[in-house]
Parts: sequence; structure tokens; C-alpha cells
Amino acid sequence: MHIVGKRPGGGYVIGCVCDEEDVHEFRVRKLGVSVECPNCGATAIGTELLTTYHLQGSPEAGVSAATAVAGGTRVVG
Ligand SMILES: [Zn+2]
Repeated sequence: MHIVGKRPGGGYVIGCVCDEEDVHEFRVRKLGVSVECPNCGATAIGTELLTTYHLQGSPEAGVSAATAVAGGTRVVG
């Protein structure tokens, strides 16, 4: 389960891979201690979803990380 994005009015859109071919998206007003998918019943920890979202969801952070890796690794030959 992962956060797809923030809603303009508050809350989050959550995506759950209910099975390998079906990603179910649902909305929550708040991220509680646990988030439950209304489709398949899977649960996730709200704070973990947020942590993952902030680590991976920021385009700036992604670019910086990619640049750092590219700058630090030289392919010779
Ligand atoms: Zn699900």
C-alpha cells in the first residue's frame, strides 16, 4: 500500500495493490495508526506510508539522489 497523493481539500489518496493486476485507490481524510483497504481488507501503518511518501514522493529529492549517484560514480572506458 502506498500514498498516491495528497488531496487538495485535505487527506490522502491511497493505492493498494489488491492483487497483481488490480490497484485499488481510495481516499482517507486522515492517516490513522492503521489504514485499511476497503476492497481487500489489507492494512498498513499510517506513519510508514507517510515516511515512504516523503522519501520517495518528492521529485526534488529524487533528482538530487540521482545526481549524487551519477556524480559519484564514474564509468571509465
Ligand atoms: Zn486492497
